[in-house]
Amino acid sequence: VKGYLQQIKAKAHLNVFNEVFEDEAKASAKEIDARISKGTAGKLAGMVIAIKDNICYKGHKVSASSKILADFTSIYSSTVVERLLAEDAIIIGRANCDEFAMGAANENSFFGPVKNDADNTRVSGGSSGGSAVAVQAGMCHAAIGTDTGGSVRQPAAFCGVVGLKPTYGRISRYGIISYASSFDQVGSLTRSVADAALLLEILSGADEYDGTLSQRPVTSAADLKKDTGKKKIAYLQEALSSPGVDADVKATLTTYIEKLRADGHTVKPISFEHLDYLVPTYYILAMAESSSNLARYDGVHYGYRSPNATDLESTYKLSRSEGFGKEVKRRIMLGTFVLSAGYYDAYYAKAQKVRRLIQDKTNEILKEFDFILTPTAPEPAFALGVKEKDPVVTYLYDIFTVQASLCGMPAISLPAGNNSKGLPLGLQLLTKSFDEQALLNFSEYFM
Ligand code: GLN
Repeated sequence: VKGYLQQIKAKAHLNVFNEVFEDEAKASAKEIDARISKGTAGKLAGMVIAIKDNICYKGHKVSASSKILADFTSIYSSTVVERLLAEDAIIIGRANCDEFAMGAANENSFFGPVKNDADNTRVSGGSSGGSAVAVQAGMCHAAIGTDTGGSVRQPAAFCGVVGLKPTYGRISRYGIISYASSFDQVGSLTRSVADAALLLEILSGADEYDGTLSQRPVTSAADLKKDTGKKKIAYLQEALSSPGVDADVKATLTTYIEKLRADGHTVKPISFEHLDYLVPTYYILAMAESSSNLARYDGVHYGYRSPNATDLESTYKLSRSEGFGKEVKRRIMLGTFVLSAGYYDAYYAKAQKVRRLIQDKTNEILKEFDFILTPTAPEPAFALGVKEKDPVVTYLYDIFTVQASLCGMPAISLPAGNNSKGLPLGLQLLTKSFDEQALLNFSEYFM
């Protein structure tokens, strides 16, 4: 704990934490130390973990990096936090993120952007940017994030760490501040696949507070073993042909394809016929769900209330106008639009149908192949500030990650070396729902 706290102070300029639980972490380290000596400590004994600031922890602030919740204290703990603590993990602080997890660069935070430790002029990725840099910069052993359309995997790729988004329904969403409920899933950012497997084992499994959870048996970290069997792998041929994909990213994918083939795996190009619909479908649905989820921040129930409010209507209007940031407002407006009478069928209902089509097509591919391999992101970490002006440019950044989210399937981002500027690159593996064990076992190949 002391070592990590020192590192947090030394690298404060990266803006990773919204709050560090310094005294508390030191105190629990002492208690857990005693339990380790007695042999009664849990499976995560002493593992120092950062949690994304949209995960509720009783008696602690939880802000979703928004002004509207900046002073809000949680009155209960999320299931995820309960499970971490029950196994003697030490929670070191609340990691910065995009406001309500909306973003891909961590530049939408009320508390300012997180900087990449590989190059401080570049973004961390997002929305779990603080969680990713916390692991990258050695400020904790592992971090917990949330992934709605790529928010664990994409910052993991930008920071050279492992980012796992489990199957939708694996990990309880109870106590996670909602963004888009049919996509939101808790994930881990770690240095190794073994740590991802351990955290998955601890965090997953039925929870009476989340009705969308699967009753399937959870995976076991003890079953993690490097899979040496010959696999059938599909890769997206557009990832190599599209002008929007960076040359180093293409070269890295090519290197791995050749290596996999040389090792006896079958690797074939596929063209996903609905590729152009992935990002629009995701954003229509995610914005619709977010506009509904964020209706609860009304200046009355909890969170920020404008001091200038004089009646009910001005309480709503002013609290929300002053409390939400620009990107969040944009999504509420667009989400409300696609749900409105007259446009619902053209946008929301249509997007639901396309989502099903994407799921069916992806399942078809996964009948023939064990995994789909893509880059995690089309480029390495970009410079701070350059993409802020055009949100659509950042939305397109999610092209490779949203497929797993639309399908509810598990996907992992694995570090795949650095480019010539020393910027980390990541590759993503996607597989069938609830096949995390196979995903993790094969992931070891890339490590
Ligand atoms: N970049 C995507 C978005 O802004 C994904 C974010 C996330 O997974 N939370 O919606």
